[in-house]
Amino acid sequence: MAPHAVVVAGAGQAGLETAAALRARGYTGRVTLVGDEPPGPCHRPPLSKGYLTGAVPAEDVPLRPASFYAEQDVELLTGTTVVSVDRERHTVLLESGLRLPYGALVLATGCRPRPLPVPGASLHGVRTLRGLADAEVLRRALQGPPLRLVVVGAGFVGLEVAATARGLGHEVTVVETQPRALTRALTPAVSERIVAEHRAQGVRVLTGRQVAVLHGDDRERVRAVELADGERIGADLVVVGIGVLPNTEPARAAGLAVDDGVLVDAGLRTADPDVWAVGDCASFPEPRTGRRMRLESVQNATDQARCVAAAICGEPHPYTAVPRFWTEQYALRVQMAGLTSGHDETVTVGDVAGGRFSVLCFREGRLIGVESVNRPADHGITARLLAAGTALSPAAAREPGFDLKKLPRAPHSPTASPAPTVPTAPTSPTAPTSPTASPSGSRSEERLSVHA
Ligand code: ADP
Repeated sequence: MAPHAVVVAGAGQAGLETAAALRARGYTGRVTLVGDEPPGPCHRPPLSKGYLTGAVPAEDVPLRPASFYAEQDVELLTGTTVVSVDRERHTVLLESGLRLPYGALVLATGCRPRPLPVPGASLHGVRTLRGLADAEVLRRALQGPPLRLVVVGAGFVGLEVAATARGLGHEVTVVETQPRALTRALTPAVSERIVAEHRAQGVRVLTGRQVAVLHGDDRERVRAVELADGERIGADLVVVGIGVLPNTEPARAAGLAVDDGVLVDAGLRTADPDVWAVGDCASFPEPRTGRRMRLESVQNATDQARCVAAAICGEPHPYTAVPRFWTEQYALRVQMAGLTSGHDETVTVGDVAGGRFSVLCFREGRLIGVESVNRPADHGITARLLAAGTALSPAAAREPGFDLKKLPRAPHSPTASPAPTVPTAPTSPTAPTSPTASPSGSRSEERLSVHA
């Protein structure tokens, strides 16, 4: 029997999609969505791109119009968070003091930006980017006169902000500790293509370099970034994009197991049968790799939400959707299907010099993931191949005349969301998650194994 009430802690993409999927399945109990960000659930992808330039107006940022909540009878409580969970009494306590009963509790608490662990990180003009309020501050700064911007971290967030700021005419330097950009997310061929584009556009991309300290003026405004090798880079604005930390406090407070994410089983359920976790904060056993991971993407948030809504409505099934991510920088649209980390062989198809190609990644002769640069059709096809488990060997992919489009059509996966060749949400992947931070604070190379 379906529970009398569902409380969803966290009003990001995963939380909103959980509420929407419950109603789409005909769930008639009370649904309460609790979130700290006052505007309610927003599209995150434009916040590092079109929202900053003004191409995506503020009214296009909410995930649903205000009327959705009344029409669907979803109670949206914003500006507050779940601070504790009483699993015996089946209640949550909100920061506002309100106590809500639940039959099922869904933790969709997302992540927060990892702070830069160096002196000067709290100076004015040093920003991170996660929600609409952060984006609003950056938008105002970037729409003003030319600035010297230093981006710390060459992941998706950092590079998307760098590309956007460069497009608006700012002087941009990116500082990355790893020897190359996007190590967590992409194969070298694709990350090099992206970095080459940044350099062609006039962005200074420094890899294998450490930020040591940020210097400010007497009004505590940032003025320079000093690297460990002593180089000082003038800065009016610093954007820190060095990854995220999962918001696991409510799970911890509830006594649930946490380890770089809320630990859930293959059906996204915690050890408590009435508590689930979805989206960026959920650490789940990925069925194709057998590894526990968190994934930060619109697709993962949406598909996990649907999986949990089905379980709450009495139709539990394992979460098996093929991971999909995307990013857009300048005229490059990069899309990823499956998980490419851990590959032992690659085959590149298409026109690398012309900037339209796909890297097919194999492990032990099996296709595990594909990264496509300006080849949306490849992305759509390979996502379906991966979902169907269609065999494709590296040798076959290397055959002269090999054409992905000529492979036998594979059916859609029943559990995956419809796979748009162009993502529906205005944005990027948030990348697959991170593995655990290494003791030095930098991430390991493996993007997906997550905390693992
Ligand atoms: P996001 O998706 O939030 O952009 P990623 O983990 O994909 O996060 O990218 C963050 C990038 O920041 C990684 O390339 C990582 O190596 C880099 N990084 C981590 N710590 C630092 C640091 N202290 N200085 C510069 N780069 C860093």
